[in-house]
Amino acid sequence: MPELPEVEIARRNLVRWFDGRRLERAESDPSRIFRGAERARFSRLQGRLVSLVRRGKYLLFAFEEDRGLLAHLGMTGKFVRRQEGEEVPYSRARFHLDDGRVIHFADARMFGRMEPVAASGLRDLEVVRDLGRDPLADGLTAGQLQQAVGDSRQDLKVALMDQGRVAGLGNIHAAEALFRARLHPTRKPASLGPEDWKHLVQAIRESIDFGLEEQEGEEPVYLEEGRTENPFLVYGRGGGPCSRCGSTVESFLQAGRTTHACPKCQPRGRTGK
Ligand SMILES: [Zn+2]
Repeated sequence: MPELPEVEIARRNLVRWFDGRRLERAESDPSRIFRGAERARFSRLQGRLVSLVRRGKYLLFAFEEDRGLLAHLGMTGKFVRRQEGEEVPYSRARFHLDDGRVIHFADARMFGRMEPVAASGLRDLEVVRDLGRDPLADGLTAGQLQQAVGDSRQDLKVALMDQGRVAGLGNIHAAEALFRARLHPTRKPASLGPEDWKHLVQAIRESIDFGLEEQEGEEPVYLEEGRTENPFLVYGRGGGPCSRCGSTVESFLQAGRTTHACPKCQPRGRTGK
């Protein structure tokens, strides 16, 4: 499932694909990715891409003449580039460029989201305004992380996935960062010491950097699609050996999501469950 690194790779691909090109025609099929938004406005997008900003897992497209688009990849959404006339499975919306190429937004499960709005209003959208600090776009220090997450009474991993606290981390990279920092996902934020926050912020950065390297390329492939080997240290390794110590990785549910952790490398700590 796309998280900060995958969305950032999508942004970089899109910037490259739009570079020097004009969007001649935008069109879409009726689907739930538009939610309550006005789908007809999508077809009014045109011209040059002025800027493409990522905030957490959101992409903010600004085209000429104040035409804008908010996009979220959801669970299975991806942007792919093809020649005009080529078919793309699950294509829901398309940008036709002046070089004979088409950028498709393909989304099998349709948890993705498209919302055409005025470009000047993108940052004022509630979902964007409510986002916490973005570790890559804004930078994140140990102190800033502690300030954002430290007062949460939820489990540490659940708090890290709260987009209003830190923007961009999901189930994969929260689990990976905690493994790298040797912190158990059920630790309470209040139980962390200054060294823990330092390790955790470093681990978040490493996990994001790893994700960026892993996903670099034209065609995004998500782990859930089953065509790729699991590249992660702990995520998705429940029941198997820990990549560091060989102990059996545990898996359990946390706020409805499956969490993976090594009981030896990530001790539950005195305030853990
Ligand atoms: Zn281990």
